[in-house]
Amino acid sequence: DSSFAHVQQAPEDPILGITVAYNKDPNPAKVNLGVGAYRTEEGKPLVLNVVRKAEQKLLADKSRNKEYLGITGIPDFNKLSAQLILGSDCLAIAEKRVVTVQCLSGTGSLRVGAEFLATHYGGEKIIYVPSPTWGNHLKIFPLGGIQTRTYRYFDPKTKGLDYEGMIEDLRAAPSGAVVLLHACAHNPTGVDPTQEQWEGIRRVIREEKHLLPFFDSAYQGFASGSLDTDAWAVRQFVNDGGEVFLAQSYAKNMGLYGERVGALSAIVKGADVATRVESQLKLVIRPMYSSPPTHGAAIVSLILADKDLYEEWKVELKGMADRIISMRHQLFDALKERKTPGNWDHILNQIGMFTFTGLNKQQVEYMTKEYHIYMTLDGRISMAGLSSRTVPQLADAIHSAVV
Ligand code: PLP
Repeated sequence: DSSFAHVQQAPEDPILGITVAYNKDPNPAKVNLGVGAYRTEEGKPLVLNVVRKAEQKLLADKSRNKEYLGITGIPDFNKLSAQLILGSDCLAIAEKRVVTVQCLSGTGSLRVGAEFLATHYGGEKIIYVPSPTWGNHLKIFPLGGIQTRTYRYFDPKTKGLDYEGMIEDLRAAPSGAVVLLHACAHNPTGVDPTQEQWEGIRRVIREEKHLLPFFDSAYQGFASGSLDTDAWAVRQFVNDGGEVFLAQSYAKNMGLYGERVGALSAIVKGADVATRVESQLKLVIRPMYSSPPTHGAAIVSLILADKDLYEEWKVELKGMADRIISMRHQLFDALKERKTPGNWDHILNQIGMFTFTGLNKQQVEYMTKEYHIYMTLDGRISMAGLSSRTVPQLADAIHSAVV
């Protein structure tokens, strides 16, 4: 008998499970709006031209080899990643108060950050995450040793931000707790605070409660089409001189999903603290996966360091963001045309990859069964998976689900 006979079948991941169900559906009209990955108008995955160019350069460079990277990855990659999100004129960088370590995309960066905080954070070892949030946050932090609690974020009535609720919950948190903030394009709701609201949030975090902000930046440039606009909130918190943790992912904005390339930064008070924090981050990483992979970070380093490649990337990135924004308009117009009951303004107002439609579980199940549309049961659709061809099908499905 197997020593593992007692092992129970685990449920599918609620997001990745959608793709499993989608793959099993033989109907050719099926549409996958579950997973958060960009698709072209033709419904195909996209490898950016600038990424292909960088790969060709890497391939042609015969001086390159397959040696291990250091524990914290490619030094240039770390430097350029910090500059990309904090701005090249960032005072904290000049003061050597920023340590950045290459990690396994956004998820790995969050996980390394969690384990570091669990061992070394001097404040309250609890992290407040928005309700709702990307489901993996609720697993990453407890497994990394930091318990999660939630703060109010989304108001189902307005399909916008519950600002009052959020402020109240942050005020009620123990002083010194950690608070997870989506840098932009909140997943799954597509709802971000306004600049004025960010300022209110920052004051509670900094002046009232001395909370540690931990930013998750998975969509820089992908939300608005501008790298600087999408980094605005993070920069407000770094430029006030306080401490910040920050996870960055290149999955979406460079389309490097499977290459697993990202970075964790700690912005701390004092260059000496930064040096010691880096030494301890190495002790978290070494027994976890020893050192990060080379290929994706080498691509990113080339693109960020080369003026022409960088400019080309910005154009391609804006192209992806613009296509998503145009899908929002097309879907909104299609529902208006059908005179679908309800207010659908939030399709236009929410930003980033997702629309939090407000459709409930029964309606989603109906749309999957009758229209072969695959999406998460919380009513979230990936706008990046939509195309001009599939908008009418989705609009028909939504219309028929709500009437
Ligand atoms: N954080 C958020 C909010 C996300 O939406 C995602 C991806 O969907 C991630 C982090 C991490 O993605 P990855 O590990 O692929 O970089």
